[in-house]
Amino acid sequence: MPDSVATTPAIDLEAEKEQILHRYRGLLRAVPGDRSTENTRLIRKAFNIALEAHKEQRRKSGEPYIYHPIAVARICAEEIGLGVTSVVAALLHDTVEDTDLTLEDVRDLFGDTVATIIDGLTKISGVNWQTDSMQAENFRKVLLTLAQDVRVILIKLADRLHNMRTLDSMSREKQLKIASETLFLYAPLAHRLGLYNIKSELEDLSLRAKEPEVYHDIEHRLKKGESVRKRFISRFILPIRQALEKEGFEFEIKGRPKSIFSIYQKMLTKHVTFDEVYDLFAIRIIVDSKPELEKADCWKVYSIVTDFYQPSPDRLRDWISMPKANGYESLHTTVMSPGGKWVEVQIRSRRMDEVAEMGLAAHYRYKGEEDHVHAMEGMLNKIRSMLKNPAGNALDFVHDFKLNLFTDVIMAFTPKGEMRTLPVGATALDFAFDIHSQIGRRCIGAKVNHKLVPMSQALRNGDQVEIITSRKQQPKEEWLNFVVTPSARHKIKQALREQKRKLATVGKEAVQHKLRAWGAKVNEENITILSDHLLATSPADLYWKVAREQHDLNAMAPPAVKNGRLILPKGKRAPDERPLEEIVAEIRGTKGSTLTIGDELQSMDYKLSPCCHPIPGDDVFGFITPEGIRIHRVNCPNAVQLMSNFAMRIVKARWKGKDSVEFLAGIQFSGIDAVGIVNRITTIISHENNVNMRSINFESRDGIFEGKVMAFVHNAEHLHSLVEKLRSVPEVRSVERIDR
Ligand code: MN
Repeated sequence: MPDSVATTPAIDLEAEKEQILHRYRGLLRAVPGDRSTENTRLIRKAFNIALEAHKEQRRKSGEPYIYHPIAVARICAEEIGLGVTSVVAALLHDTVEDTDLTLEDVRDLFGDTVATIIDGLTKISGVNWQTDSMQAENFRKVLLTLAQDVRVILIKLADRLHNMRTLDSMSREKQLKIASETLFLYAPLAHRLGLYNIKSELEDLSLRAKEPEVYHDIEHRLKKGESVRKRFISRFILPIRQALEKEGFEFEIKGRPKSIFSIYQKMLTKHVTFDEVYDLFAIRIIVDSKPELEKADCWKVYSIVTDFYQPSPDRLRDWISMPKANGYESLHTTVMSPGGKWVEVQIRSRRMDEVAEMGLAAHYRYKGEEDHVHAMEGMLNKIRSMLKNPAGNALDFVHDFKLNLFTDVIMAFTPKGEMRTLPVGATALDFAFDIHSQIGRRCIGAKVNHKLVPMSQALRNGDQVEIITSRKQQPKEEWLNFVVTPSARHKIKQALREQKRKLATVGKEAVQHKLRAWGAKVNEENITILSDHLLATSPADLYWKVAREQHDLNAMAPPAVKNGRLILPKGKRAPDERPLEEIVAEIRGTKGSTLTIGDELQSMDYKLSPCCHPIPGDDVFGFITPEGIRIHRVNCPNAVQLMSNFAMRIVKARWKGKDSVEFLAGIQFSGIDAVGIVNRITTIISHENNVNMRSINFESRDGIFEGKVMAFVHNAEHLHSLVEKLRSVPEVRSVERIDR
């Protein structure tokens, strides 16, 4: 392992030995459940073997290497609730890869289960994450390995958590790499497994590594507001506490700040400053209920809370009646405090709280480890079945995987009350296809909660959806723009292919019929002549266009025919007048699929080109380079050259509307210098439009100023409105978008 070095500086070895034993005993105490002599013996055996195997190694920090496996094992026991087998495997997790110990040795000493787990863990660390474009394939490899035994995932998460906790001694480059991987794969995995605490800690630590300034700034602000927050919380909960006591509840109330990462996410997605994030903390009420009274008690507490504070009607989340896919159960509401501040209140039972904090492991803490593993089998089976039939390429696979496992789901109902589970963002059309492909194909709209809506309408949790169909309806190309489920996409594409095939036959017959009517032979030569004349790129293209009535053969004057051969000039087009898109389309043929930009799942595969800074709304195309796809604006100064020289490497691209993403754009302006002008312009940019500036430069000479701003905007429209605002400043004489 690269984070170990084989040097032994002079240190107090006796003290170190004592420290190692101390940590080992701490681990033993943390192992849950049965502490029979047999179990203790196994753990001691693993500890001794790991100690011996790693004895020459030290971590980057200079500490003995064995600290790491002990810490990982302890996280497994204490924070995930795993049992002896996992603790043994965690102690040995780096031995096969880093030391002389072989997998066979492990198998002989500890049996098949431990050996299989170690083998899985060793394989994952062999995966090379070096390049962006490899990520999707690696992701698959990792999952393949992880899917063998859920303990591999859990121990890997513990390993990653400890590495993240001790990231400081790594090189900056390594820190960034590890933090990115953590955000990309491990935090979502932890989330999926319901390991809420581990997920938040991984995210926070990643943010600290990637953007230390942001992290420390938020941390500092949270600390600064702590006493005010505490006072607010105690005043807020006082009447609730009294009422709950009067009702005879056993309970605990916590006022916990949200994680730094989630606060930062909110600032980014809602485009607000730290001070504007209203829910910096959540109040959590945990009731000690009998199992059969859990639900009733939670609603009783809800009613007490809302006796004192007005709830926001659209912010009630009942995850007790319908738990989240990862097992999360809780009742959330947001209420108005007397000071006019919205406060999120989470209500749950003790059991629900433990599940929420530690994942399903909490259930099985005091049962056997095998039960625990069994409980996770459901999720694992899902992964396994996806791995067995990967849909096409690795990127699609990641997309589907994330959709199916990582995103939260919504539940919608048929008019008869049957529940359908769909990913967040699913539309009425997705719902229609989910019911039956024929219903999807014939969908013309829907009634959501008895109100007529277009089929592109995104559904919300609890919606009741009635699909309206028509026999005359046929799937349209544009449907692909708003369905989100892979199965609906697939079915639409299939239907479109069928339609095309049918149309092509119609077109072909029409062309043949016309040739005969003109007295020409029906042969390849004549069809090519006709294609060339009508600027069709191929016979198939000709048939298609005729069928779609883009070419009306009946409107053509009958051409001359000589010996059965058509006499028709080749069609001409002035090349300069054609839109670039058409040129590319012609060069690329009709096959190449469209790259959709702005879809976060594809974000690893493309980069926005720095030469023209494309933003959503711009006409763009993708250019394939060895480092991945680069997105350029169609009017990029380099576009013409790229298109003419490397046409085969061009792919169509279009934006998918997602305004939570920000893009860098440059604006240049000039005007007459005046007092306070710099201030006025920066105010316009940062406040009125709520955009983030990256850099701003002003130069003033002889009463004339010139400025250049690089700012993050959402899309072309957003940029345009910013340009208009700047133009409205009287002193400003010219404003234009620049490329760099
Ligand atoms: Mn490790």
